[in-house]
Amino acid sequence: MPNKEVKTETETADQKMDELLRRKQELELKKLAREVEQMETEDAHRADASAKAEAELKAGRDSAAARQKVCTHLKGGIGVDGFHGKGNSSNYAVIKHTYPWGETRVSCQRCGKEWRPGDPDYQQALNFPTDNTSSSSSIWVGLDPERVAELQHQNR
Ligand SMILES: [Zn+2]
Repeated sequence: MPNKEVKTETETADQKMDELLRRKQELELKKLAREVEQMETEDAHRADASAKAEAELKAGRDSAAARQKVCTHLKGGIGVDGFHGKGNSSNYAVIKHTYPWGETRVSCQRCGKEWRPGDPDYQQALNFPTDNTSSSSSIWVGLDPERVAELQHQNR
């Protein structure tokens, strides 16, 4: 029966097509699953890196704060002790710098602490005896004159 033959061939072709489509779908699902997995891995790595950076930043802040807390801000001290903030000179290891807008800040060369106008111990820091030369920057190319005048006014 030729008719039956044709029908069978058509059915076989349909089945083949179905099978191919099914496999294609399977592959696409696998590919999708792999992409999702990859994205999740990348997200996890990003979160890890971000958490690590945050922790390092915090550790840095903590150690700076700890260093500043124990620092005598004095020169002297024997060897490494001096650099660990156990200076015992009568001179302070500070630099007094006056900015173009008239603000003078005091910073410790040992621990990096900075005193600015308004800080509770600012006056005290300003009066720290030191044999360091005070500095000032009279040229400030990044600021326009109006802004400098404004800052000078604020700090008067
Ligand atoms: Zn200090």
